[in-house]
Amino acid sequence: MAVSPDAGGNSPTDVDWDALRAAAVEVMHRAYAPYSRFPVGVAGLADDGRVVVGCNVENAAYGVGLCAECGMVSELHATGGGHLVAVSCVGLDGAPLMPCGRCRQLLWEHGGPHCLLLTPEGVQPMSQVLPQAFGPDNLSIAGGPA
Ligand SMILES: [Zn+2]
Repeated sequence: MAVSPDAGGNSPTDVDWDALRAAAVEVMHRAYAPYSRFPVGVAGLADDGRVVVGCNVENAAYGVGLCAECGMVSELHATGGGHLVAVSCVGLDGAPLMPCGRCRQLLWEHGGPHCLLLTPEGVQPMSQVLPQAFGPDNLSIAGGPA
């Protein structure tokens, strides 16, 4: 099991991974996935201790379906903002599920390089999950985000 946050990162031992995954499993059962029949749940620990969750929400127009991470990030901001420090994403079997490429970008934006993710290979920081990521720092070169 890989547990290797980079320097200055969050400590995997400070996270109740069982509780986070249980929250992800619970919300996974509320997913709206009539087309793929592939429900996904995700739970994130915010830097102030809140746990925010999301589930995937599909659409008859497949391209506008929402990944679980979209809902979680929306709840993060709707309930006070802050940053994610740890995330657990699960599929129907409750096992760790890797976020898609787009959602890795979402997690990078709202958790940064030190945010921890429970992966099938153990806990990994986002700096390993999305190496050489494009992010807010890149925009600061051009004067920063608006
Ligand atoms: Zn996704």
